[in-house]
Amino acid sequence: MIAKVEPLTTARALRGPFDYLLSDRFRDVGVGSLLLVPFGRQRLRGVVVELTETSELPAERLAEPIAVLGDPVPRPLVELGLWVARQYVSTPSRGLELVLPPGGGKGVGARTELRAVITDAGRAAIGGEGRLGPKQRDALERLAASQTPVAAGGERDSLKRLEARGLAELSEVEVPRRPEVVSVGARSERPVLTPPQAAALARITASLDVDGGELLLHGVTGSGKTEVYLTATEAALERGRGVIILVPEIGLTPQTVSRFESRFGDKIAVLHSALSAGERRDEWMRLRRGEARVCVGPRSAVFAPVEGLGLIVVDEEHDSSYKQESDPRYDARDVARRRAHKEQAMLVFGTATPRPESWKRLDRVELRQRADGSPMPGIEIVDMRERDGREGPLHARTREALARLAESGGGGGKAIVMVPRRGWSPFLDCRVCGHSWSCPNCDVSLVLHRAGDIMRCHHCGHTERVPEKCPECGSVSIARHGAGSERVAEIVAEVVRPLPVFRLDSDSASRKGAHAQILAEFDRADAGVLIGTQMVAKGHDFPDVVLSVVVDADSSLRFPDFRAEERTFALVSQLAGRSGRGGAGQVLVQSLAPGAEAITRAANNDAAGFLAGELERRRELSYPPFATLVRVEMAAKEARAAEDAALKTAARLRPLLPPDATLLGPAPRFRLRDRERRQVLVKATRRADAIGAVREAVEGVVASKELRGVQLSVDVDPQ
Ligand code: ADP
Ligand code: ZN
Ligand code: ZN
Repeated sequence: MIAKVEPLTTARALRGPFDYLLSDRFRDVGVGSLLLVPFGRQRLRGVVVELTETSELPAERLAEPIAVLGDPVPRPLVELGLWVARQYVSTPSRGLELVLPPGGGKGVGARTELRAVITDAGRAAIGGEGRLGPKQRDALERLAASQTPVAAGGERDSLKRLEARGLAELSEVEVPRRPEVVSVGARSERPVLTPPQAAALARITASLDVDGGELLLHGVTGSGKTEVYLTATEAALERGRGVIILVPEIGLTPQTVSRFESRFGDKIAVLHSALSAGERRDEWMRLRRGEARVCVGPRSAVFAPVEGLGLIVVDEEHDSSYKQESDPRYDARDVARRRAHKEQAMLVFGTATPRPESWKRLDRVELRQRADGSPMPGIEIVDMRERDGREGPLHARTREALARLAESGGGGGKAIVMVPRRGWSPFLDCRVCGHSWSCPNCDVSLVLHRAGDIMRCHHCGHTERVPEKCPECGSVSIARHGAGSERVAEIVAEVVRPLPVFRLDSDSASRKGAHAQILAEFDRADAGVLIGTQMVAKGHDFPDVVLSVVVDADSSLRFPDFRAEERTFALVSQLAGRSGRGGAGQVLVQSLAPGAEAITRAANNDAAGFLAGELERRRELSYPPFATLVRVEMAAKEARAAEDAALKTAARLRPLLPPDATLLGPAPRFRLRDRERRQVLVKATRRADAIGAVREAVEGVVASKELRGVQLSVDVDPQ
């Protein structure tokens, strides 16, 4: 037998797979096996992507693998990894890395424990005359008293001696490391489904019984979407099928995870990057062996080794974290579509704020009301124009509403405040000469962080001491502009004193588990304010929140990107949805653009109206979903090298593109991490042709070795 092996290497130029001869020693090797192979003078890890009878090379020139590493990857996942590599113009190696067991065959082993059972001779020895030391007698008596094998703790030595005398039998058993799940938010019994929930469930089970399908579950926050996922998961399990539940980001939406855990217990495995290597490996193995049948996790969980997959749910399908921002820049929502289609599974996208792509393409079931029957909160747009800048970031209306919470002595409920940026002040300049402080590595301004007294670049992490005077003119008069979460938290704390304030942003939640912990503290508090970046609008459910505030609703609108409206609409709607569950709620949206459609439609809770307008605009401008965008980026130390690479790439690309495609650029992108950047953008309706052309052009450029010192990256469907 010949194994075609794709070596796992970072080199873009290497073109596998390569043939290896399998002797009898390797008769268990199949597609998905992870091997250590000789490669020139190196030894590389590689994945078997195919078995064949013949090779183009004579048998005597073929090498044998050195060893089999770790556990094999299921065949459908090998295919999925290779598909990702092609679809996102990456390399087979990087595509395959996504589907390997955690650790990728590099050393993370099982955790084992020594278990002991007493033998008949052992029982006889307890009552008998034989010599037993006090420790051995202790250990033996404990073994005799227990029905099941006991975990052996610190008594290894005595047990070993008992075993040597035939009085006990020892074995090493594998003990999976299970990640701990912090439980947050409202807990609930299993309710009777409302008619729209039941309709959604019926759609899903009907598809489970045939060969899959896709559905958009559109329902405001609190309308009972998660309850539908839970019952659909039960339905899939009853049919012997496995389930993947994708949730945004890490930390995760701890609430969704704990709801799945409490309903399905050990049938659940969670997979995410905050687990230890051992935990991740063990959760992966529990799925691989079928001990766990439901995987809950962020985008990478779309590659979970769930066998007999019947259902994939993408919760909060609008969330940008489903796109991976490093090579391969895959979109888990599209990978989920591919996987569901190949494995004939049902795919459900759920959200309160669907993407235009999903709205246009998918059948949908709507959950129009909140499950507890409470009305949607009243949303008020607070006009921030014509205000005196000295009044600070909070409007008088906002201050009043927060102050009322404090006056009611904590019995009045909780509030959530969303601030677009973290830190204290996002921008500093000299009042005398206008000098401003920006990152030496990136074309962005440094953000002042009062904690630690530093200025920080949010792109590359560069930090500087807070300046005492201007380096240009020596003036000590330095102005701080704008307000980040750190500063707003301090202002809010003053307004609501003595109520506690909980800050949630990537500064306060950088420690492992801190995110869930902050949410749990806010949950436990009788009253208080949760304040932070977009994180505060994600995936949790606190029934006693009566006030939500968006401090600067248009910061996302000002982004020069065709998704700016979509994002703003989602952000405002998502935060609003967190307010007023189980009673009255108020939402205040501070905006400098109070008439913007994304904001007014969100205020009217009108997703359908917003999406209709947005799709019309996208059609006119030929943006997704009416076209595919592919971006090729070149990054280099010198601007000239980046520019040169961009021109060469564009020149190769132009003749390969299908006639419907347009090529935009080369155009500059802002400097990042000390790299000058240029981009070339392809816009096309024939998606596969456009991606194929980019692949061919990039491979050509890479093979020609013209690009010394230039990093080239491809982003299909950039976000
Ligand atoms: P979503 O995922 O859309 O935000 P959830 O499924 O979390 O909504 O439901 C919101 C709340 O309503 C939860 O506390 C949930 O237990 C409850 N709930 C969901 N469905 C029902 C139902 N059919 N009857 C009563 N309560 C329900
Ligand atoms: Zn100055
Ligand atoms: Zn920087």
